[in-house]
Amino acid sequence: MKSPGELGSGARPHVMFIPSAGMGHLLPFLRVIAALARHDDVDVSVVTVLPTVSAAEADHLAGLFAAFPRVRRADLHLLPFDASEFPGHDPFLLRWEALRRSAHLLRPLIACGAAPRVSAIVTDVTLASHVIPISKELNVQCHVHFISCATMLSLLAYIPVHLDSKAELGPGVGDVDIPGVRRIPESYLPQPLRDLNNVFTKQFIDNGREIINADGILVNTFDALEPAALAALRDGKVVPGFPPVNAIGPLDSHTASTANAKQSEPAGSPVAWLGEQPARSVVYVAFGNRSAVSRDQLRQIAAGLEASGCRFLWVLKTTTVDKDDNTEVEDVLGCGFLERVRGRGLVTKAWVDQEALLKHPAVGLFLSHSGWNSVVEAAAAGMPLLAWPRGGDQRVNAMVVASGGFGVWMEHWSWDGEDRLVTGEEIREKVKEVMSDAAVRVRAMKTGEEAAKAVAEGGTSYRSMQEFIGKLRAT
Ligand code: UDP
Ligand code: UDP
Repeated sequence: MKSPGELGSGARPHVMFIPSAGMGHLLPFLRVIAALARHDDVDVSVVTVLPTVSAAEADHLAGLFAAFPRVRRADLHLLPFDASEFPGHDPFLLRWEALRRSAHLLRPLIACGAAPRVSAIVTDVTLASHVIPISKELNVQCHVHFISCATMLSLLAYIPVHLDSKAELGPGVGDVDIPGVRRIPESYLPQPLRDLNNVFTKQFIDNGREIINADGILVNTFDALEPAALAALRDGKVVPGFPPVNAIGPLDSHTASTANAKQSEPAGSPVAWLGEQPARSVVYVAFGNRSAVSRDQLRQIAAGLEASGCRFLWVLKTTTVDKDDNTEVEDVLGCGFLERVRGRGLVTKAWVDQEALLKHPAVGLFLSHSGWNSVVEAAAAGMPLLAWPRGGDQRVNAMVVASGGFGVWMEHWSWDGEDRLVTGEEIREKVKEVMSDAAVRVRAMKTGEEAAKAVAEGGTSYRSMQEFIGKLRAT
């Protein structure tokens, strides 16, 4: 079988990737980098900022360079950044801002970097408004790798038009009616967008204004998953003249072989434990790579899982940055919890290979914050979701899940910043209900089949990847 991009001869491309901070951004980058690095006739370099914010980012970057010695590291040294200007802000968002303020330092890296000359850039969306103009000056192609869904991409693209057309601005962006896609109420948008002066909002609007000048956009989605949003972006309904959108998902693991890793799992590891559980009996619980719910809410989740009587595997994160985590599971979930659920519940604070866990036959349901990578991994695995969005793009992602029918969106469960606790009783009921929901399971399996078809030879994502690599070779 031919791999995507074997399109014939042309100039030897050198692609420089510029990822941003946070595992939700880095992982999809690593997956595209690995896909390209498997092509001997494409040179790849990765702009690396050390130290990373989290240990997980450092580990995964080290893993990439070890697995692909051909991939070059281009170190970017950030200018000093005074975080006290933004008290209380998320450290990953502050790293985005620090990167943006140092973006002019990318110019010499791109222009004078390792031979052969850099012919294309793939930048994270958070840096787009700075990187696209530099690429134009240097006459280098610039593609944006958008790490959320196509619906979020349509929001980003449309937001400048939306704001410019409003007679009167409120404190935030307000409800947004995206042509050809859907109307998104303000309460479903990332929380910072309720404040036009928030640093995230300013970045978002700047990137939304500039993205139209990119040479192309890569999105980790597939045509069957978001047909309306992709069609509206491509037909110019969202914004006329929007760049070509290549839906290339579900992106595959960047590690050499997830399947091989499974065979050598040590006893007691999540995969080994799953191996002892009956088919589709386990609820997999994970809210992304960092803490997403309060301590009180965690206790309610624990109570709900315990009362459900279901087996469960819970990947627990209790801090924003993994390096700060020094608590014990017992302290977080309460004395005696682990003892009471012994044998049917496993809680781990370790980094897991979520993609592999979701493909495990013992898992029957994914209780998730619906971060986009998690949603796509679930879709690829044909795994039903119980979506409990907590912040950022997650309600928009949950809309996609609900429209696709491969999961249930708990639309009225709490959202970060709201006071209400979802009780253990509510969680127990819903987990049991969705675990035995045959219609959602069938729809999830169908979505998994559509995902497999998209990336198989001749599928929509396969062809999109080929088209992207073809563009890289056209320089
Ligand atoms: N992830 C993982 N192991 C962990 C925690 C997270 O593999 O222990 C991966 C998960 O599979 C997903 C990414 O980290 O690919 C998290 O991204 P997502 O968009 O789902 O949520 P975020 O963490 O950005 O909120
Ligand atoms: N985003 C964007 N442009 C920006 C900043 C963020 O499109 O300038 C997107 C980002 O890709 C993510 C979403 O906005 O999908 C919400 O970001 P969030 O606050 O959830 O942070 P993340 O989970 O990406 O770290």
